[in-house]
Amino acid sequence: MNAPVYLDNNATTRVDPAVLAEMLPFFTELFGNPSSMHHYAAGVAEAVQLARRQVQSLLGAKHDSEIIFTSCGTEANNTALYSALAANPGRREIITSVVEHPAILAVCEHLEKNEGVTVHRIPVDAKGRLEIGAYQAALSDKVAIVSFMSANNETGTLFPVEELAVMAKEVGALFHTDAVQAVGKLPMNLADSAIDMLSLSGHKLHAPKGVGALYLKRGTRFRPLLRGGHQERGRRAGTENVTGIVGLGKAAELAQAAMEHENTVVRTLRDRLQTGILQSISHCFVTGDIEHRLPNTVNIAFEYIEGEAILLLLSRAGIAASSGSACTSGSLEPSHVMRAMNIPYTAAHGSTRFSLSRDTTDADVDRVLAVMPEIIARLRQLSPYWGKDGPKATPDFAPAYA
Ligand SMILES: *Cc1c(COP(=O)(O)O)cnc(C)c1O
Repeated sequence: MNAPVYLDNNATTRVDPAVLAEMLPFFTELFGNPSSMHHYAAGVAEAVQLARRQVQSLLGAKHDSEIIFTSCGTEANNTALYSALAANPGRREIITSVVEHPAILAVCEHLEKNEGVTVHRIPVDAKGRLEIGAYQAALSDKVAIVSFMSANNETGTLFPVEELAVMAKEVGALFHTDAVQAVGKLPMNLADSAIDMLSLSGHKLHAPKGVGALYLKRGTRFRPLLRGGHQERGRRAGTENVTGIVGLGKAAELAQAAMEHENTVVRTLRDRLQTGILQSISHCFVTGDIEHRLPNTVNIAFEYIEGEAILLLLSRAGIAASSGSACTSGSLEPSHVMRAMNIPYTAAHGSTRFSLSRDTTDADVDRVLAVMPEIIARLRQLSPYWGKDGPKATPDFAPAYA
């Protein structure tokens, strides 16, 4: 039996053993509350502070006080949007994109329906690139915050967030980026950036689930989402998730050390996987912006078949991948990201994401390349769109978006 192959790192990553080792003492001897005055707190508050500096260093932030620990990337995103509106009551508009993670889109929808906020959702082109003209047209002094993701979780497509942030500043709007997929994979230098706020999540960079952080540039007007105690300088109440925070700090340090590896070895593995699939299988193509993309991600649309069926057969072969994002799989419609790029219905359904990590090996890529042609051929034999020698001129039924 072959060892399992995990290529779903954009959904979550394995906790690095060195991260776990760093965390363990804080479950046992070092269990104190960092806010306590007695000796049980000694070492604990310092460990939280060290983690803050480790995250600061990964982000290239100027001050460690700019890092606010949260419970997840979703909380960081929620905090950014709510804070911007509450701290700038004269501005009641938000600009975001159509391809954001649900942790932005659902918040915007709620604010629009229940709080009377105007939301501008900027479209993307067929390669997933932001329509800059539409963004420029939406910018005004009514905009409280612009929120664009750094990297798309489904395709890996990068938005030019530095330039987009500069444009937001010109109308006095705050700029937030959901960088959950980018942090740890791409170098960051927030000290010299127009970005005011940035979200990250531990479990996407080999730290545990249930911890994240919001970067908040010094001097940015802010209102907390959670009120209570004075933790995180009163910006995020609640006793610190010390074990998670310590793990996130260590993971940040490891990610910084592995940044070169990510952009050389992991990128090469990803490219080999992509080239191998494109060369051995007909009627498939890469979705997203191939030139501006995370080094670990490739999303391939296999025409005339179902992504769910591909995943099932891959899973039987011991290989874990994803169709769309974990949050959209399970529904029958293609993901909002595929639809936004206008990927034809028959191809969007077969879109499959492979997301690698520094744990990925050459043997993992070989395994996928060995089984993939056979899986696709089998499924196409069952497809109503596929005849003996290729796609049918007249499929058994006409597909359409709902
Ligand atoms: C995973 C993810 C999130 C959510 O992070 P959690 O820590 O799971 O809440 C937000 N945005 C993007 C782009 C993601 O990939």
